Amino acid sequence: MSKPRLEGKVALITGAASGIGEEAARLFAESGALTVIADIQDELGQQVVNSIGSQKCTYFHCNVGDEAQVQALVDFTFQKYGALDILFSNAGVMGPLTGLLDLDLAQLDLTFATNVRGVAATLKHVGRAMVEHKIRGSIICTGSVAGCIGGVGPMAYTASKHAVVGLVRAASVELGKHGIRVNCISPFGVATPLPCNAYNMEPGLLEASTSAMASLQGLVLKARHIAEAALFFASDESLYISGHNMVVDGGFTVGSHVISQIND
Ligand code: NAD
Repeated sequence: MSKPRLEGKVALITGAASGIGEEAARLFAESGALTVIADIQDELGQQVVNSIGSQKCTYFHCNVGDEAQVQALVDFTFQKYGALDILFSNAGVMGPLTGLLDLDLAQLDLTFATNVRGVAATLKHVGRAMVEHKIRGSIICTGSVAGCIGGVGPMAYTASKHAVVGLVRAASVELGKHGIRVNCISPFGVATPLPCNAYNMEPGLLEASTSAMASLQGLVLKARHIAEAALFFASDESLYISGHNMVVDGGFTVGSHVISQIND
């Protein structure tokens, strides 16, 4: 029997009390990692720990927009598990649903506080700790299809997710000399509380809408598909891949502009 893909690794996942982060926490634990689940939803986070098993993971409260809390999270991870090999910087918010002409700049700042400042803070403090401890780690950030093209998300969210790709590319160059890999995963619509609450949509309807727009037919995008992509980047199977933005969208972003008559 082959050994579990993350055996002996310590992982930290932000935004892991729900949705994609929660699914990744389950898959990382199944794959042999010890995992710190960080979030601001304490009750949900603790429930995730209870269902996975407290011998495999721990919950830690952290608002990623607060740098001191991120530093405390990294310190906690080292105290608890003695290492930190994998960061999945995944916490995010949708922000205001408006376009540019109605944009409330205070709301833009709030969106950036989590989606950009939060990711930057985790990259900085986890990057520093990996360099200091000479850990050739793997860092993964969650972008979005809205971080790849315009017009598929609200203005503030779109801008913030484009910034995540910039953070990943810059960090991959800087941290590469220390043997640390940094990659991005950009999902299409997954029926988690983030889009379902923002658009007041039933999960089934959101999934149907994603499926209808994807090029790849006959499948429904689930949080598990995104977690599998994160597992690939976290594991040694992607050992020479860094600075990459893996779009998990069933071909939506490369196929959404085709003229349908040509392809029917
Ligand atoms: P979700 O709402 O289920 O999970 C997001 C988690 O992040 C929540 O548990 C929330 O409490 C946590 N969070 C929010 N702000 C935080 C903060 N300041 N500090 C710490 N934790 C915080 O939604 P999800 O869809 O699983 O979202 C995960 C990531 O995936 C986000 O970055 C989101 O932008 C991205 N994404 C989601 C979709 C989708 O369709 N669901 C598509 C593309 C990208």
